[in-house]
Amino acid sequence: MTTDTVAAPETHAFEADVSKLLHMMVHSVYSDRDVFLRELISNAADACEKMRYEAISSPALLGDDPQSRITLTLDKDAGTLVVEDNGIGMTAADMAETLGTIARSGTKAFMENLVAEKNGDGHQLIGQFGVGFYSAFMVARKVEVVSRRAGEPGAAIWSSDGLGTYTVAPLDAAAAPARGTRVTLHLLDDAKAYAERYTVERIVRAQSGHVPVPIVLREGAS
Ligand code: ADP
Ligand code: MG
Repeated sequence: MTTDTVAAPETHAFEADVSKLLHMMVHSVYSDRDVFLRELISNAADACEKMRYEAISSPALLGDDPQSRITLTLDKDAGTLVVEDNGIGMTAADMAETLGTIARSGTKAFMENLVAEKNGDGHQLIGQFGVGFYSAFMVARKVEVVSRRAGEPGAAIWSSDGLGTYTVAPLDAAAAPARGTRVTLHLLDDAKAYAERYTVERIVRAQSGHVPVPIVLREGAS
């Protein structure tokens, strides 16, 4: 479904610092991997907040779906966890800009401290600073992001295994949500617990109780 691209995917290399960061994520022995979910939910909530703000001047952007929502879909058989929001969304250009570089202040601070730490491997720093979107690669062998910017006719799909490159391709609008972002994590073998309701409920309760957007949990094929 998410591979209904309308043109060949373009392959991009990650910025050098992102590659370094991803290498750490992929080879992480960091014990508190749960933080990835806090990061993805916080991005989804930020996107809903941005949507709400833009809708003040452009209410038509909300269409027939005015209520902000974050949906977590767990599929044990497929080994996937999907974090979806009906927030502002991203264009293909947005994705290449924000999901390939280190724009984020928290991640910059993380990298600076990593350099300062010299002998450390950064695992203590992951929890301290948060590493945003890229933390998904602590639990996923592959991450796909389907997104449509509110008001845009077309959608796009970003995809990566976290090993140096990512692809971006335009997507048939029929295969994308009306607006917002769907992040699909293809879970690593040792991270399949993140497709289980018990685990995800526990983490959401512990980490994301303050999120101002309703979080819906679903099970089954996404
Ligand atoms: P931060 O949230 O601190 O900016 P992240 O690494 O978590 O850093 O995310 C990087 C950027 O990717 C965000 O600033 C945003 O522009 C974009 N992004 C990530 N997830 C989403 C989403 N669900 N909806 C819209 N944009 C997103
Ligand atoms: Mg974030």
